[in-house]
Amino acid sequence: MSQNREKLIDLLEDIVGNKWVIIEREFQSSYLKDETPLPMLPSAANDLILVKPFSTKQVSKILEIANKEKITVFPVGGRTGLVGGSVPTESGIILSLERMNNIEFDKENSMAIVEAGTTLGSFIEVSKRAGFFFPLHPGDEGAQIGGLISTNAGGVRAIKYGVMRNYVYGLEVVLPTGEILNLGGKLLKNNTGYNLMQLIIGSEGTLCVITRAVIKLYPECRYSSTMIVPFGNRYNAILSVNKILRSGIIPLGVEYIELRDINKAAKHINERWPVQEGNFQLLILLNATTDNELLFAYEKISEILPEYNPNDYFLAETNKEEEMILRIRSSLYTSMKSRIIDILDLTVPSNHLLDLISAVEKTAFKNHIDLPIYGHVGDGNLHVHILKEENTNQKKIEKIKKELYKVASNLGGVPTGEHGIGKIRTEEIKKALSEKEMYLMSKIKENFDPNNILNPGKILS
Ligand SMILES: Cc1cc2nc3c(=O)[nH]c(=O)nc-3n(C[C@H](O)[C@H](O)[C@H](O)COP(=O)(O)OP(=O)(O)OC[C@H]3O[C@@H](n4cnc5c(N)ncnc54)[C@H](O)[C@@H]3O)c2cc1C
Repeated sequence: MSQNREKLIDLLEDIVGNKWVIIEREFQSSYLKDETPLPMLPSAANDLILVKPFSTKQVSKILEIANKEKITVFPVGGRTGLVGGSVPTESGIILSLERMNNIEFDKENSMAIVEAGTTLGSFIEVSKRAGFFFPLHPGDEGAQIGGLISTNAGGVRAIKYGVMRNYVYGLEVVLPTGEILNLGGKLLKNNTGYNLMQLIIGSEGTLCVITRAVIKLYPECRYSSTMIVPFGNRYNAILSVNKILRSGIIPLGVEYIELRDINKAAKHINERWPVQEGNFQLLILLNATTDNELLFAYEKISEILPEYNPNDYFLAETNKEEEMILRIRSSLYTSMKSRIIDILDLTVPSNHLLDLISAVEKTAFKNHIDLPIYGHVGDGNLHVHILKEENTNQKKIEKIKKELYKVASNLGGVPTGEHGIGKIRTEEIKKALSEKEMYLMSKIKENFDPNNILNPGKILS
């Protein structure tokens, strides 16, 4: 790109205005990485231009030029991803939609039309003020709508209302050629041909740039509570989850955490975890439209739990307490990050969670290392952390990862339930999927992006 750099900068400035074309490396620094643990973080390329368009038309013009000149484009959101998906690994354009953050509500259809650069934090807040509830909550509220859709994010509140793809009813996207497509809309049912919109959700910025979305919202639930249930061992904690989920009540989410780790997370943000007994704990998030419904759920869980011998349970009922618990839970990753070599995102059918946990314990014991785990047990999704320790070396780390991926696969699981493939799991996808599936995916990519200009080297390598 170097030769034509000046010409390209002029063209981009004509489109978005010179204030929004950033060429100095020092002002690009936060766009050159995401939240991937440092030892796994891919390196950013050198020759990069950061562009911040304000409209879909501007995005379209940028892509049209890039496609014509065969210049790579890296769409970035809040850069909170954990697999290097937004890292600009080749020279080209970094495309940030952060200025595109308008939100409109369609109250009659309980939907919002949201621009892709809107952050999760502001969307939750503005929806609340409009009387709506947007339940999805992956841990970093700096994530943007475009990023949440591109990664099909999950998080701690994904049981009752599902993951990101369950909220998206319509998408406006710009293809790598610059063409603008409107997919889906406000329809609750739509069987008109192949569902390209669902194909794009989770495509990690490799097929098109998402500029706007129609998102389903829920009425604000007046009644909610968060239970913390401490246990003396991991097994009883995990066993109880399946029983709770089969009892007919649907919690917002069920999380597994360990006291040692959650205490560090609390300390990290100057808070105190409210339950200090039982090293192995469940966090059960409930909401309801009536007091009775909430009470029924609580009673049902209370009937099931004694069978699994919990130490006790704690009920957070005020919004303030619930928010504090969510904030601490959301800080788990950040509080460990400086010691993390890699965070695995293993996902298995829920009935095999115990097998997965036993295998992690065995691997840790065999290798004389600590492998802290926590995660979305209600979704069969566990995060296993490989930490920097004196006795870890690259060979050992690779061996541990290989072993754990193999265990998950043998249990009918996958290498990632929510973080995605990005740049750092491209070898894992090849092991997880068949050759035919990989072939079909590469053909899809070719059809959307014949010049391979959009986020190259991500998902497919
Ligand atoms: C503390 C912490 C906790 C987390 N917890 C969870 C969790 O519980 N569940 C979970 O699922 N994730 C979690 N994550 C990961 C991350 O927050 C999600 O993957 C999130 O969806 C990424 O959004 P983003 O806007 O930051 O995207 P980025 O990281 O900027 O980008 C992610 C991918 O999306 C693409 N992209 C971004 N915007 C667009 C667009 N407009 N058009 C096309 N492609 C685009 C990028 O190219 C990239 O491939 C966590 C991260 C952190 C740091």
